[in-house]
Amino acid sequence: MTRRPLWLFLAVPALLSAQTIAIRAGHLIDPETGTSAANQVLLIEAGKFTAIGSNIAIPQGAEIIDLSQAYVSPGLVDAHNHLALTYKKDPENNSYYLTTVMDSTAIRAIQAVSNGITMMNSGFTVVRDLGNAANYADTALRVAIEQGWIPGPTVINSGIIIGGMGGQFFPVPERASLVYPEYLDADTPDEIIKAVRKNILYGAKVIKIMVDAKSYGYTVDEMKLFVAEAAKSGLKVAGHVQTHAGALRAIEAGIWSIEHSGALDDQTHKLMAQKGIWRVGTETPLSTFYSPSEARFQRQTEGMKNAYANGVKMAFSTDADYFIPGMTRGDIVIDFLRSWKAAGIPAPEILKIMTTNGYKVCDIQDKRGPIRIGLPADLIAVRGNPLENIDALREVNFVMKDGMVFKRDGVMTPEKFFHSGPVNGWRTR
Ligand SMILES: [Zn+2]
Repeated sequence: MTRRPLWLFLAVPALLSAQTIAIRAGHLIDPETGTSAANQVLLIEAGKFTAIGSNIAIPQGAEIIDLSQAYVSPGLVDAHNHLALTYKKDPENNSYYLTTVMDSTAIRAIQAVSNGITMMNSGFTVVRDLGNAANYADTALRVAIEQGWIPGPTVINSGIIIGGMGGQFFPVPERASLVYPEYLDADTPDEIIKAVRKNILYGAKVIKIMVDAKSYGYTVDEMKLFVAEAAKSGLKVAGHVQTHAGALRAIEAGIWSIEHSGALDDQTHKLMAQKGIWRVGTETPLSTFYSPSEARFQRQTEGMKNAYANGVKMAFSTDADYFIPGMTRGDIVIDFLRSWKAAGIPAPEILKIMTTNGYKVCDIQDKRGPIRIGLPADLIAVRGNPLENIDALREVNFVMKDGMVFKRDGVMTPEKFFHSGPVNGWRTR
């Protein structure tokens, strides 16, 4: 081995260039108000917004990015995905039991990297990743992105989904182990506390529970215990809900978000609006690729309409964890615009739901997401005006994250994202 001078090892990689970046934005959208401002300049230093306005002088030597013909928006959020899961699918059977048998945690982590990159390519700079990630592949994904080893969205991950014995699976006694590590059993108050702590120890940023997948679902008191234990570490609790009774218990317990909407009706929507509980729907659009029946799709969009009319806090969320030939994970996710359009939600509201609401349900709105001085420079640009036609979001041709260009002129150019790290000291969780 050749010996090299020590200073070579000490040299810090130029992670966030000291050079100022100036973006000329033809139209800068504020999804919170549903308005856009013309001819804005955004200055970015060390990965963060330092100035935003129409009368900003561009410093000499700044790198200028010309988006003067584009609509610039904060990045998009999918509030319910499983980046480390791809269903093993055949026309007759559709089971992710097989994933747990066939795919190692390692291969699922690598698949998650690929899915994350395609999500960024479709404009999603934040993904709430709600479990089904084998043995913490989701934590590995999040850390690798945070360390700057790979490009990818900001990941709010749940670690292992916690549930009453069996989780979401129904194994036979001889194959009980099929459940693990996909689900974490917690059947008593002690086990609930331990399960929450285990997930936090191994890198979870949100706690995901199965409220009612079994007849022995969680009680109001048990869910209150989840909420209290998670809150000690600043985490929220997301509940997978599939029955009306389960929804009522989760609402009474003061859960942060209800995942899936099949069990929600006018009564639960009104209670959720009252208590400020997030509705993380996951309404699969009807198209040639998807399997929901027309009747089911109709029910789902009626539910979205009812929630919207009741003023429930809603998030764009897909549960897209399957493969469709010719489509990336990002392609599949953005196609969920179909559901929101079918529900008749106005375009400015859909954009707000996909951005502002997304940061809020992830509980990161003060740290990342909005285009605001002091926050990380994440943004996307599209040619058309999404406030008028939400389908403009189908062609995201510019993506920036942490002040680094990930996609330019419709082509991924993620070179700056690949370095050997570390950004904030070596961390593995
Ligand atoms: Zn899910």
